[in-house]
Amino acid sequence: MGIYSHDPASLYAIGVDIGGTKINAGIISHDGKTLYSESLPTRAGESPVVERIAIAVSRLLAWAYGNDPRIALRGIGIGTAGQVDWQTGTIRHASELLPGYTGTPLKAFMEQRFGMPVHVDNDVNVLALAELYAGAGKDIRQMICLALGTGIGGVIVDDGKIMHGKWGGAGEIGHMSIDFRGLPCICGSRGCLEAYASGTSIAKRMNERLAERGTQASDGPRNTRGIIASWLSGDPDATAIMDDAFEALGAAIASLLHICNPELIIIGGGLADVGEPLLRRIEEETHKRAMSSFQSGVRILPSSHGSLGGMIGAAMQLWEYE
Ligand SMILES: [Zn+2]
Repeated sequence: MGIYSHDPASLYAIGVDIGGTKINAGIISHDGKTLYSESLPTRAGESPVVERIAIAVSRLLAWAYGNDPRIALRGIGIGTAGQVDWQTGTIRHASELLPGYTGTPLKAFMEQRFGMPVHVDNDVNVLALAELYAGAGKDIRQMICLALGTGIGGVIVDDGKIMHGKWGGAGEIGHMSIDFRGLPCICGSRGCLEAYASGTSIAKRMNERLAERGTQASDGPRNTRGIIASWLSGDPDATAIMDDAFEALGAAIASLLHICNPELIIIGGGLADVGEPLLRRIEEETHKRAMSSFQSGVRILPSSHGSLGGMIGAAMQLWEYE
């Protein structure tokens, strides 16, 4: 595919959300509406991830030019799994979910391939942009987003800007320790939030609890979705595990209130699909632990765009940084 025209004044940009199993890419308007989107399997390990991203973007461009040959886009924004060197748009580290992806100069590759501005950030950081530009974070200057999924990601927004830290790694709230003698974590620390409240940890702890008692279900290990359903119906084992998760979240958020003094907390990620019962428990446990002046007026809300937040927020980088 050749070089495409771009227009810094365009009301549209491409947003790409790259996960371990799926790539979502869309043409997104300045107010966060999806004009057209494509979803394709990442097929990590089978072909280079950059090639899959290029295929997704080429499909969007083919659609756009098919509809209006004069169309010019603002550029391409990418939110990706893994640690991202934010200034250079290079993948600093990716887990075994994306083999061969570590070290990929994604921004340089995409700019050369498509001839338009490209911004690359962590997939969780861009969620904050989806809220700031087209969600509950409009007019908000101080905000924290938590993404509760198989792991736990976080973003700190200070004075309307994402806190990136030295190279882009700031906001790893999942690895904030809430118990210095607590459970060992994959990062090397102990008592990290992620070791209690991620989907993976909830399932692991529930299955360990049942195995210890010799009451492991005959139909195999329990998954997070099933455990949450059991919790909602009052099962005592599921309630004990979920109570630990909520207390861990309450402790982490209370600390964040004291450190960052935000006005809004956004809860996203797959676990947030549970909705109100989950948000209310998080709120309860936070309220037990934070100073009242830091809690006053703080809202805890679900993310505005569900699983599309990454793709929408990725595109918003073209308004945030261009
Ligand atoms: Zn950790």
